[in-house]
Amino acid sequence: MFHGQHPLQCLERSLWTHVRRNVTTWSPVGAAFNAKPHRRLNLIEKNVGLFGVPELSCPAGFQAATETALKNTERLVGKACSCSPGVETVESFDQLSDGLCKVADLADFVKVAHPDPAFREAAEKTCIEIGTVVEKLNTNVKLCKSLKILLDNPDIVAKLDPNTRKVAELFMFDFEISGIHLDDKLRKEAVALHVKLLDLNNEFLVGAHLPNRIARSAIPEHLHLHFADEGSFIQVGGLHADSPDDLVREIAYRIYLYPNADLVDCLEELLKCRYKLAKLVGYDSYGHRALKGTMAKTPAKDFKMMRNMKKKLNPRNSVSDFFCSQHILYIMEIFLYNIEPSLYSPYLSLGACMEGLNNLFSQLYGVSLMSEHPSAGEVWSEDVRKLVDLTKSAVVHETEGLLGYIYCDFYHRQHKPQQDCHFTIRGGRWCQETGQYQLPVVVLMLSLPHPTKSAPTLLTPGMMENLFHEMGHAMHSMLGRTRYQHVTGTRCATDFAEVPSILMEYFATDYRVLSQFARHYETGQPLPESMVARLCESKKVCGAADIQLQIFYAVLDQIYHSKPQSRSTTEILKEMQQKFYGLPYTPNTAWQLRFSHLIGYGAKYYSYLMSRAVASMVWKQCFVQDPLNRDMGERYRQEMLAHGGAKEPMLMVEGMLQRRPTMEDFVDALVSELNPNFETFIMDSES
Ligand SMILES: [Zn+2]
Repeated sequence: MFHGQHPLQCLERSLWTHVRRNVTTWSPVGAAFNAKPHRRLNLIEKNVGLFGVPELSCPAGFQAATETALKNTERLVGKACSCSPGVETVESFDQLSDGLCKVADLADFVKVAHPDPAFREAAEKTCIEIGTVVEKLNTNVKLCKSLKILLDNPDIVAKLDPNTRKVAELFMFDFEISGIHLDDKLRKEAVALHVKLLDLNNEFLVGAHLPNRIARSAIPEHLHLHFADEGSFIQVGGLHADSPDDLVREIAYRIYLYPNADLVDCLEELLKCRYKLAKLVGYDSYGHRALKGTMAKTPAKDFKMMRNMKKKLNPRNSVSDFFCSQHILYIMEIFLYNIEPSLYSPYLSLGACMEGLNNLFSQLYGVSLMSEHPSAGEVWSEDVRKLVDLTKSAVVHETEGLLGYIYCDFYHRQHKPQQDCHFTIRGGRWCQETGQYQLPVVVLMLSLPHPTKSAPTLLTPGMMENLFHEMGHAMHSMLGRTRYQHVTGTRCATDFAEVPSILMEYFATDYRVLSQFARHYETGQPLPESMVARLCESKKVCGAADIQLQIFYAVLDQIYHSKPQSRSTTEILKEMQQKFYGLPYTPNTAWQLRFSHLIGYGAKYYSYLMSRAVASMVWKQCFVQDPLNRDMGERYRQEMLAHGGAKEPMLMVEGMLQRRPTMEDFVDALVSELNPNFETFIMDSES
């Protein structure tokens, strides 16, 4: 229950990157991540089951775990319906939700990440089974009534603490968007639409990631090796944006984005269903529905922010229209700034980066990362040689003790999703039953190269920045101490969720932070400051173009999720691209079909910009003077990270900044950090 909480797939960020530094011996964390994977010695160790859940030592265990969860659900529904209205009601709801989420969230992860298809299938089945039960609970009139009695009684509500009240309201919101208030006929219609949407979402997500193919003969022979081979065809499964060959990038762009008619139909049907459902449950559009409870609140406000930003960006930045294209950006990065990732990588071993994170967290929050060796069967990927390539990090506070666990699934493997991702496996919550805090458990998934015989895993500046970003999500989960798991860590308003992770990107590109860890894995030499400066400069210039791109994506997302349009999704794309991005549309491409965030974030893609604005304000006001300041770290933890989704995001921002920002402040925060003074920079770099 009751939220279809999805893994936090990070919104597309800039395609380029960024930076790092000192000494020669690694702390235990650094050493653990730079060590060569070692052979498991004890082959008769007891299998503890995935994530230590005993049932999950084999695929069939998912069925058992599901059955147990569903049995408990029945009992807890009874409890939630019968207890006298008050805190206990909300606690029962949260307990009910926890029991289902624990299994469903874990299965959600396993179904995409486990290398064994039998596990993936079993997990998928569990997801469907629990998903169906959740749909039913969200339209369970009796259950809803017990919450309504509570919320309709002002005396009882007045006695609730603010967090409990907020969680009660959030549970009520889940009922409302499921159409619980409708009569029987309409409610059935709403349920049917939900089910149809689940199918359409799946179909779209699968299609969005499928490669396109083209006859081998259509492509110059010397380029074949850049693409996957499929008999007389070659497969194009991505944009190849990093390829140094212009032609490879162009072919990839045109083939990968070539429209698939079925997928166009699927997307258009999906948007229609979303609109119908939103109208049915009482909203003006899907956008209105999606934005409830966020910082933006309604689409109108959100749109205004983007229009203002567009206005402010353009006059200062007339040059941006021509250098906005991915192609020119690529050239700029490599040739103008000489940001050749391989020059940076030796300074950015995975161990160095993890040590950097550990140092940063211990200075800011008094928290350390302790590597633990996972038990047999606890993790999902050990290759045939029985090498453990997953690391488990316990997060330990200097006085509070153990805060939670981060499983680091960092290395590339076959069939693993390519997207960097943070998964909540178990939410934090105060556990009445045991009198203890249920510790949060998360997985960070990256796709880094494996270490080799001669070198540890070396990160490009972009990978390093992504690692910091994802760790920002993980620490949001770890440092949250919410009473209810329904609002644990990253289960907060979508437009707030990226604040902690984007803030980490500022740390990742600050010389004072980088100089603490970026050092050559062989020589121990620190990364030269001039290289760091160049990287930061390139980030700034490219940042302007990136924001313009994000505005275009966000506007497109809003229009797709507003009232039904008489034009096709491609026509809308074409028009908005011209208007908000300034570059003409390339005929016979349909980028919207590859934009899976349209589905995942439906009408909330603007969240990236909103979060980035907040992160920028927090960085400039609180950390830019001294990025390692413990007092600020504590304030940040207490005001922003501790509350998960239990507090209004604007109140958290206000607590941190000690003033309430206006919409103007948001716009200015984004515009001001960009430095589109391109000509000055060219002159600087020539001198
Ligand atoms: Zn993110």
